[in-house]
Amino acid sequence: MTISQSIGNLKEIRFLHLEDNKLDAQMIQLVLNQLDTKIKYELVDNESDFKKALKTTTPDIVLSDMNLPDYTGLDALEYLNSHMPQIPVIVITGSIEEEVAARTIQLGAWDYVVKERLHRLPSAVENVMNLKIEKEKSNRVSKLNQNILETTPSAVFTVDTSGTITSWNKMAETITGFMADDIIGENCKTMRSDICINNCLLFDPERPPGPVQNVECDFLDVHGNKQFILKNADLLFNAKGEIIGGIESFVDQSEKVKMTKELQEAKNKAEESDRLKTAFLANISHEIRTPLNAIIGFSELIADSENEHDAKQGFFEIIKSGSDQLLSILDKIMQLSLIEGGDVKIDHKVFDLNILVKGILQQHKTNISSKKLKLSLVQPEELSLNSDSTRISLIIDNLMENAVKFTDEGEIGFGYEANNDSVMFFISDTGCGIPANIGDKIFERFYRVKDPAHLTPGSGLGLPISKALVEALGGKIWYESEENKGTCFYFKIPNLYIKESINPITYSVLHMPSNQFG
Ligand code: ADP
Repeated sequence: MTISQSIGNLKEIRFLHLEDNKLDAQMIQLVLNQLDTKIKYELVDNESDFKKALKTTTPDIVLSDMNLPDYTGLDALEYLNSHMPQIPVIVITGSIEEEVAARTIQLGAWDYVVKERLHRLPSAVENVMNLKIEKEKSNRVSKLNQNILETTPSAVFTVDTSGTITSWNKMAETITGFMADDIIGENCKTMRSDICINNCLLFDPERPPGPVQNVECDFLDVHGNKQFILKNADLLFNAKGEIIGGIESFVDQSEKVKMTKELQEAKNKAEESDRLKTAFLANISHEIRTPLNAIIGFSELIADSENEHDAKQGFFEIIKSGSDQLLSILDKIMQLSLIEGGDVKIDHKVFDLNILVKGILQQHKTNISSKKLKLSLVQPEELSLNSDSTRISLIIDNLMENAVKFTDEGEIGFGYEANNDSVMFFISDTGCGIPANIGDKIFERFYRVKDPAHLTPGSGLGLPISKALVEALGGKIWYESEENKGTCFYFKIPNLYIKESINPITYSVLHMPSNQFG
């Protein structure tokens, strides 16, 4: 658009003229009338009228004389600069003051015209108006850019060629926690992590030209926490095509990274659970078949009338033990399904723990002695416990069963110790031990340490059941183990039994593992 075209598009140009010399004012108005555009002209000759006029109208241009009786063109310029900087000022002056007038340009005047060369005024007006229109346009564009930057869901910032941050939008504040006032002027490396710095190829001369697109990296937020982002960046050029900096936009990926991690974990868990279930089914069908086959086979032998009475007695015992085994497996499956359904009811009552333990040990006596294992017992002379005796029996039973099952020689240790409000149990053995890398996986349902020969029967349910029951009783369970040396399971549960005075506990010590009771 040419200068005159842009002016021609205006309906009128409004002038406010500060001039005390009426003749000069008339002359100037005559010159202005030569402009193609309609003009609106207002003349004032003192400071007070000048300021009053500015309150009622907003002129497109102020024309100002340099020297009035009590006011100068410089005063008018200063006033406009601080109150209405968007209004252009053309200083009109006599030739003797041309030097001073030229200085007004440095102070913010848009142009000056010497009274003796007033023919220059229309072109000065056109230039100034054109500049004003361009300025307004660029202000509108930069305001629009600013609005876009402030409302975009992406963080956007710019840097100069040294990486110093030159602008920082609202979303950048939200994602990083760094406020624009604090971060502008800082080097953008302030918030980069090493990976991000290494990925920042924007100013790398080796990089093929073009934007940096969809690079995933992380940075450190204002609290030093690692955040994950997806960034795009490009170089910024000046009109001469020289690189003047870079612009980067990024979106927060932390939630996505977190979700992906959770999904991956859930997938791994589901796969592991699936694998365990398959292993369990294979295992359980073997575990159920073995006693079932014995029951079926020996039932047929009993039915065979040719067999002797004594032999039949032996068959009965085998059938009985097969039935017990079957019952125990089915029982564990039932218990686990109750636990998994969140249906573990705890029934507190006061009972004598020593009597309960005596009964449990009785059940394992046969297995212990048939394997020629020694049993060591550590227990207080008397101990009243307020808890759920059925659940405690089950836990001890499971752990005892495992200790005997996985030990071929040596001894089984069992004991418990009470303090004011809790009881801690241990069940130790000198068996095959649990490999060190297994950790708490041992408590996962269906988990069994790989036993290539499939020699030891089991379902992988005893420990998860025990753990769930201990936790339901408000306690915790853990173990120590060394391969080929032995294992010791511990569990500690609260004792709700309150006694006025607690007698010093005397122990009948036969065996005590490590110093866990310290
Ligand atoms: P099960 O004994 O029926 O297989 P558990 O859940 O009770 O199921 O035990 C899971 C696995 O933990 C066992 O298969 C075994 O590999 C290991 N384990 C448990 N107790 C012991 C122990 N005292 N000594 C060695 N390994 C053990």
